[in-house]
Amino acid sequence: MTKKFGVIGYPIGHSKSPVLHEAGFSEMEIEASFEPIEVHPDELSDWVTNVFPDYTGVAVTIPHKETMMKLVDKLAPAAEKIGAVNTLYWDNEAIVGTNTDCLGALKALQTECPELSGKKVLILGAGGASRAVIFALKNAESQIFLWNRTAQRATDLAEEFEIETIENLKAVSGKNFDVIINTTSVGLKEWKSPVPEDFFDAKNIVFDIVYDPLETKFLADAEAAGAITITGDKMLVYQALEQFKLWHGIELEPEIMEQAFLVSPNE
Ligand code: NAP
Repeated sequence: MTKKFGVIGYPIGHSKSPVLHEAGFSEMEIEASFEPIEVHPDELSDWVTNVFPDYTGVAVTIPHKETMMKLVDKLAPAAEKIGAVNTLYWDNEAIVGTNTDCLGALKALQTECPELSGKKVLILGAGGASRAVIFALKNAESQIFLWNRTAQRATDLAEEFEIETIENLKAVSGKNFDVIINTTSVGLKEWKSPVPEDFFDAKNIVFDIVYDPLETKFLADAEAAGAITITGDKMLVYQALEQFKLWHGIELEPEIMEQAFLVSPNE
């Protein structure tokens, strides 16, 4: 029987999950479907109870990642600490909610910086994605510094994860860090960067999790300074590869999904 998978959100038109997973099905000759599922927040609880049993696994996206935490039978430790579920799967009769964004971010970073322990990492942004990145880097034993436009959000998050904050970006520069990560939405469909143009240093490894466009101003400025850069598609692909492993027990080659991402148009 054809196994059913999907990605649930509201609205859902933008998701790249179907093309990434369908590329995996095709490569591994898996008989399965992967559909976008649009469910209004008011209907989410009913959907999990009555419709999810038809599915083998489902990816969860905006705005359902936080609400889903209360609707599953079991939470994986990553989802619990990050405070968001991006993947549903079955453990016998129980619906499990986990989060693969953290491993996605970690593996993306490790493509250019395999050893993150002790590295000084500046994280820009304190939203949902930032929580997953902080969780990953805490586990990797990096020394984390957090900056956010709204300073109070950075202070709260820093207290929760026991990391340091940077209050004024003008008081620091790339020279003070090994790795710099943009988790803000600055640069999404716009040519703007959250840091000044001359912020970067040639020794920096710079990662932008924004993937539309793939080449952001943040990364262009970093490249101009001679830094090594990592594009946002890497995190998206590696988190999807973790889902693929959970659902099918198969470690797919990253190139399969990377290629599918590159040939699929942005909205
Ligand atoms: P979110 O929870 O809404 O957080 C947005 C963050 O951006 C907040 O820290 C916010 O700061 C900051 N921000 C927004 N506008 C800003 C501005 N003009 N100047 C400075 N900071 C600004 O969003 P999210 O879910 O974390 O997603 C953030 C970005 O990551 C999005 O572009 C999303 O597409 C991308 N993302 C990528 C992946 C991937 O796999 N590559 C995964 C998840 C998300 P305040 O607190 O001050 O508002």
